[in-house]
Amino acid sequence: MSDKYDSLQEKLRALEDIFLQKLPSKIDEINDTLKKVVECPSDKESMIVLHRHLHTMAGSAGTFGFADLGIQARVFEAKLKPFLEGDAWSVESLNEYARDVHAYFSTALINQSKPINGIAESVQEKEKIRSDPRLIYLVDEDEAQNAAITTQLEHFGYEVLRLHHLKEIAVAVATRRPDVVVIELSFPEGRVAGVEEMARIEQIERLRIPTIFVSKSSTFESRLLAVRAKGDGYFTKPVDVVALTERIDAVLSHDESKGYRILIIDDDAVTSKYYATILHNAGMNVRLLSDPTQVLSVMTDFRPELVLMDVYMPVCSGIELSKIIRQDNSYLDIPIVFFSSEADLSKQLDAVRAGADDFITKPVASEYLISSLSTRAERYRSLRALIMRDGLTGLFNHTAIKEHLASEVLQARRNGLPLALAMIDLDNFKQINDSFGHPAGDQVLRTLARLLRQRLRRTDIVGRYGGEEFAVIFPDTTAEVARKVLDQVRIAFAKIQQHSEDVSFSVTFSGGVADMELTADADELFDVADAAMYLSKQSGRNRITLA
Ligand code: GH3
Ligand code: MG
Ligand code: MG
Repeated sequence: MSDKYDSLQEKLRALEDIFLQKLPSKIDEINDTLKKVVECPSDKESMIVLHRHLHTMAGSAGTFGFADLGIQARVFEAKLKPFLEGDAWSVESLNEYARDVHAYFSTALINQSKPINGIAESVQEKEKIRSDPRLIYLVDEDEAQNAAITTQLEHFGYEVLRLHHLKEIAVAVATRRPDVVVIELSFPEGRVAGVEEMARIEQIERLRIPTIFVSKSSTFESRLLAVRAKGDGYFTKPVDVVALTERIDAVLSHDESKGYRILIIDDDAVTSKYYATILHNAGMNVRLLSDPTQVLSVMTDFRPELVLMDVYMPVCSGIELSKIIRQDNSYLDIPIVFFSSEADLSKQLDAVRAGADDFITKPVASEYLISSLSTRAERYRSLRALIMRDGLTGLFNHTAIKEHLASEVLQARRNGLPLALAMIDLDNFKQINDSFGHPAGDQVLRTLARLLRQRLRRTDIVGRYGGEEFAVIFPDTTAEVARKVLDQVRIAFAKIQQHSEDVSFSVTFSGGVADMELTADADELFDVADAAMYLSKQSGRNRITLA
């Protein structure tokens, strides 16, 4: 755990302590003001003060983990509101209100003198949950649909909790916070009750849970509702589960996003530094390049999600440079945005022909720069997430894993760190398919994918290299160590009982591991690891061989 994290924890704890210390006097204030209101119901001033106290309590108590206190304060606040707006109290109702408020606050401190889930804890909680499987709440009355989605999501390594009734979700969220909620739009309670309930929960819990809506309806109106409810996705039934999984992955990875990778190419060091600082402050990851001839190696190394370049540069123009970038098929769709100091229309047209996506005229307001670059980078990122994933397993596909290896090899070389690559191939898989059917074979592939993701570190990169072949990149790891780790996965996998109808069987795999001691070339590394894998096959399968 980093020092930064520790100090954040400390700061939050200190804030919680302060809140706790001040709580008794805050409650006294509420009680005192309440007394004034009862003594003189026509005194608007006291009522305004009481409202403010309750409002502040509602906001702060929730934040610091006193959920019940927060909710109650909000209820009392809401009850007060009509009278602030001119309704007159009947003596009875005022007395009843005062009794309730007083009764609650006199015992509030005793009943919950400790936050159940203070912010410091919830930050820690979030850290803890990371290594667990991600938790998805699936809220829908449609049992058949739920079962189908659940099975699939579980194969992708998610933990799924099914809820059938809308009522159940508030309690479930309060008990254990999900990473994502997948919820039907309409329920017996109402045509858009799903949307309304999520909004209500957000209010109470004071947190935003990523939410994906599903619905039978594909009307514009329903979609608009989901968008306005800040939904992170909308799927019509029957739900395409692979697409749903990809969306969930994207939502969750967005959560951890380190910021978009932006490459700025400009020979003017001062200006580019200036814009780099603006983007960096906005949370982006910026690389500066002043020598255009280095562009291709920087692209492979840094894997930018957007390139921002000057139209005018020595050596070659920005337009020529963008043509060079686009010559490589992997960069056909990367957004390229030009800085141009003048509104020269013909130059802009030339640039569009060369594949420019946008122009930004210097000088530019920083908000505009940030927002227009973020939008493009975001779109590119989600597009890439779709293109780079294998549909069956959710792992990186062939292209993606090759790209990752190229960039990891460069980084390892630069930092003088080791790097290992493993190739994995299922044993006698053709026979598995022949005996148990292709769907059972698919199931086996998913099981291995899930196991690899669970057992390996988050920094290890797992891909489906081909049909029944997988590749794993182990950054900062020697082949020796990678072999040991993979051997544990091999043993675990062989123990898993696979099921097909009423038969059960087990499957094994063979692997080969190589590291950069042998070669510093990415393509060669694949070949060497593959050759080692074949040695495993030749010497009896179900083993890992070191190249
Ligand atoms: P070895 O131990 O030598 O690797 O034998 P093998 O049978 O695994 O190797 P072979 O290359 O002969 O067969 C690979 C099989 O993998 C054939 C192919 O039908 C199957 N396969 C490839 N992709 C998929 C897939 O997506 N789903 C399923 N179910 N099977 C697949
Ligand atoms: Mg094979
Ligand atoms: Mg095989």
